[in-house]
Amino acid sequence: MGNQPMVVLSEDSQRTSGDDAQSMNITAGKAVAEAARTTLGPKGMDKMLVGSTGNVVVTNDGVTILKEMEIDHPAANMIVEVAETQEAEVSDGTTSAVVIGGELLKQAEDLLEQDVHPTSLEQGYRQAAEEAKRIVEDMSIDVDADDTELLQQIAATAMTGKGAENAKELLADLVVTAASSVADDDGVDTDNIKVEKITEGTVEDSELIEGVVVDKERVNEDMPSLVEDADVAVLDDALEIKETEIDTEVNVTDPDQLQQFLNQEEEQLREMVDEIIDAGADVVFAQDGIDDIAQQYLADAGILAVRRAKSSDAEQITRATGARTVGDVTDIGSDDLGFAGSVSQQDVSGSQQIVVEDVEDATSVTLLLRGGTEHVVDEIERAIEDSLGVVRVTLDDGKALPGGGAPETQLALELRQFADSVGGREQLAVEAFADALEVIPRTLAENGGLDTIDSLVELRGQHDAGNTTAGLNVYTGDVINMEEAGVVEPLRVKTQAIESATEAAAMLLRIDDVIAAGDLKGGQVDADDDDDAGGPPAGGPGGGMGGGMGGMGGMGGMGGAM
Ligand code: ADP
Ligand code: MG
Repeated sequence: MGNQPMVVLSEDSQRTSGDDAQSMNITAGKAVAEAARTTLGPKGMDKMLVGSTGNVVVTNDGVTILKEMEIDHPAANMIVEVAETQEAEVSDGTTSAVVIGGELLKQAEDLLEQDVHPTSLEQGYRQAAEEAKRIVEDMSIDVDADDTELLQQIAATAMTGKGAENAKELLADLVVTAASSVADDDGVDTDNIKVEKITEGTVEDSELIEGVVVDKERVNEDMPSLVEDADVAVLDDALEIKETEIDTEVNVTDPDQLQQFLNQEEEQLREMVDEIIDAGADVVFAQDGIDDIAQQYLADAGILAVRRAKSSDAEQITRATGARTVGDVTDIGSDDLGFAGSVSQQDVSGSQQIVVEDVEDATSVTLLLRGGTEHVVDEIERAIEDSLGVVRVTLDDGKALPGGGAPETQLALELRQFADSVGGREQLAVEAFADALEVIPRTLAENGGLDTIDSLVELRGQHDAGNTTAGLNVYTGDVINMEEAGVVEPLRVKTQAIESATEAAAMLLRIDDVIAAGDLKGGQVDADDDDDAGGPPAGGPGGGMGGGMGGMGGMGGMGGAM
């Protein structure tokens, strides 16, 4: 190696180093948190997100908002991942996790300005997070699987502020019943709870049906409307004559030949149906079409058949009955069939539906969600998903915490005491961590239109006096006992939020160099985004990080328009 300078980066790549890289990442992370902040809590506002194709989503759900925003900046994306992890692990607490993450970055910014080294910061944050998890575990209360009232409160708390508000009690009851009825030794498998949305009626008409409900009718009136002890076949194949790929022309010269040709088609259909009969099926769910003639053969054989079943329905039925999806009907055998005690067509709240009940392996239930418009039902579905998730997590862990800012206030208090035992610069980081957590009660107060200083002072006072469950009644501004008020959340929602927010902040703080390849769109650094392939660079040759920040600017504009 001589003294020649070595060029390792291509001319197009953009490089941002040191303090610039750090402050750019912090700004991006904070911007994401800021956008989500106003939706936090029961009095949080909703956002209307308009996609590039004009599709509209109205929601209060943190992770939905961040996903729909199509954020482009790599650092901002790390904060979005916090929400996604939170959603995947515990369903609820996505906004909180993101808001805490943003606040950790904001506090870090101040300390960095005071020349605290990022490594000390990271160390301090990690120590604080560990201690925080210990503190909330100490605070937590035990939840028994048969404590229905407490479970309902947990289910209802997860739904607050999500458009499901006025039917919260009914929905919380349905959620807990659904979760309890599918619960077994391995906990609650939410895949056994099917959520069916119906845009008709009102939220109050929502109900829980035992079994899998499929919004279909049998294909032929001659088929039985009730089959007991049913062997169930699920087909991913059409019971139709398959069209050939190549256009063929059949020249028919006399009527006999035509008849022969038609007979041949009938014969083929007959053979398909015979395969099903031979396998021993009593009920057929076909994901594809069923020819009229095949329908009649099936009906003659006393088989109840449904065509064009949605693939999600088919999947649910295979799960519930133990059937195996058959891709080619000529391969069907008796061991592909599942079992249900009863399959029937019945009137389910006003429309004819197929209900599969008394299934062999798992218990399956269907939550029929109703609402006046599609947007309403969609938002209720998101609320129900959060709610089902938190009940599942609570039944798993058996631990819950009061909400309404109580745990964060308690954490801030105890972490400040803990900071005294931590030496060096890390102590400052632990204190900053404590301050950061108070963003939750502060934001709850702010979104509730309350005086944030008064609320925080009152909260701190109560916790100082030993009232660990004291939280904010966002409707009146009073500080009350959250457990008594029935505002309760699973412990894991809190521990997970602390964990992923800390992880993301630590990761962003460690970065001191951002090198973006010039030909990537808008600063897209991670390659897992599939829609950037072949796209033109957003900001021309200066794309890279510059384009990314442009994206963030656009996002800020969006926030302002809401
Ligand atoms: P996230 O996505 O973080 O779950 P939410 O908008 O659901 O965001 O708000 C959750 C916060 O609202 C939690 O801190 C929770 O304790 C609080 N909260 C929920 N219900 C109430 C209530 N009735 N009174 C006060 N705080 C509440
Ligand atoms: Mg929530």
